[in-house]
Amino acid sequence: MRAVELPAVGVPLQLVDRPVPEPGAGEVRVRVQACGVCGSDLFLQDGGFGVPLPVVPGHEAAGVVDAVGAGVEEVRRGQQVALYYIDWPPESSWAARGRPNVGPSVTRMGVDVDGAFADYVVRPARTLVATTEPIDPLALAVLTDAVGTPYHALRLARLQAGETLVVLGVGGIGSNAVQLGKHFGSRVVAVSRSEEKLGLARTLGADAVVQSEGDDTVARVRDVCGDGADVVVQCVGSAALDEQAIAIAGFAGRVVLVGSAVEPFRVRAVDLIWRELTVLGSRGFTPDDIRAVIDLYRSGDLRVDHLMSRVRPLEEANEALADLRAGRVLRTVLVTEAAS
Ligand SMILES: [Zn+2]
Repeated sequence: MRAVELPAVGVPLQLVDRPVPEPGAGEVRVRVQACGVCGSDLFLQDGGFGVPLPVVPGHEAAGVVDAVGAGVEEVRRGQQVALYYIDWPPESSWAARGRPNVGPSVTRMGVDVDGAFADYVVRPARTLVATTEPIDPLALAVLTDAVGTPYHALRLARLQAGETLVVLGVGGIGSNAVQLGKHFGSRVVAVSRSEEKLGLARTLGADAVVQSEGDDTVARVRDVCGDGADVVVQCVGSAALDEQAIAIAGFAGRVVLVGSAVEPFRVRAVDLIWRELTVLGSRGFTPDDIRAVIDLYRSGDLRVDHLMSRVRPLEEANEALADLRAGRVLRTVLVTEAAS
């Protein structure tokens, strides 16, 4: 089968020929239909995860069950599935409490183990989310991560109807935070440097947009919010924006960090205390989040066309990464010939 692997940090992906993998006990071989290409793949290529290479990237994928290993009862051959990129130890106490995305021993598909930039991938059966009836595989692929991630973040922040949500960064994640915020009944303010992305935010329902430019961005966003934001979702990997997010939050505000900056940010305890702020990290999403966003998509409450502006064959994975790095697209979806 074809697979596209990252041989080392900072080098292009490489198309390789590999044997079709066999599922072991409790495992499933999935024929990949579509896999999104996102900022995490650039982070991987840049060495951000610090994981051993080579690895096959690809963590937001949809496919069809092709073969099942011994003891698999969760899915059957021919069933369409969304691939949940995390695997957790069966005895994980976090998973038992509905949080399989955290814990010391989780592994990530496309980071720690081979992912879905390939014709086939083998996954533990417990990580697969079966669809009740088939949906567009391109949509299903991007729903998992690009929509599941902001859904998880807004859920952690307990966003309520009538509250003001500020979204910092209108990329693959932030654009969907905008439309989910509207779905939850909040007033949404989108903030971006890019006029084009602010235009997208408007078409996705943002009530107000603020172009981030100069030192007065925080003041201008706070003006639009009135009393400051109830929830700020920070989708940009930037410590400076982490600080802006905290400054934008109003009394009893919740700041959710989704963009992964590695630099430290500064905050004064008195500011957190005075406004009684909550600062949260949000890591990925859970299978329940995938089920929830699939339902929203089916009910017509979500658009995903802005995430599928570019569709490329697997062989063009490097071009897809280059498009993303240059900011030409929010997402590209890779499709496999085997699936078409
Ligand atoms: Zn991703």
